[in-house]
Amino acid sequence: MYVYDVDKVYLFNVPRDKELIEYITEFIVNNGIKTGLIMIIGAVYDPVIGYYDHVKDQYIEVKLKGHYELVSGIGNISLREGKPIPHIHVVLGGRNGETYGGHLLSAKVFVAETMITSLTGPVLERERVTNTLWLWP
Ligand code: ZN
Repeated sequence: MYVYDVDKVYLFNVPRDKELIEYITEFIVNNGIKTGLIMIIGAVYDPVIGYYDHVKDQYIEVKLKGHYELVSGIGNISLREGKPIPHIHVVLGGRNGETYGGHLLSAKVFVAETMITSLTGPVLERERVTNTLWLWP
């Protein structure tokens, strides 16, 4: 178990048409955030989510076309090879209320109301446990 103190809470909109993972990564690097929490709601288009196949040890990409509600985006920030990375899972809603969920690989932003909580405390560095997976020790 790791124990942290809350440092800051950042609230912002990701600009329209930005790629969400790229933008969040730039934000956390530029603000020196090494450990943190992420919450996002809004709407995205052309998202790609991953389903981890634990037998093949690889992510199967689910490529969705068109606009989806970003019903819930939740994630964390930790280090991988010394660099801070966001790890975000999403539930996406379609026009009939159907949902898709998974590990967010990419999405173009329509609206992304984002809350990032930076934490201070021990270094949280991911370790490679398979070809694909990097997990907290
Ligand atoms: Zn994941």
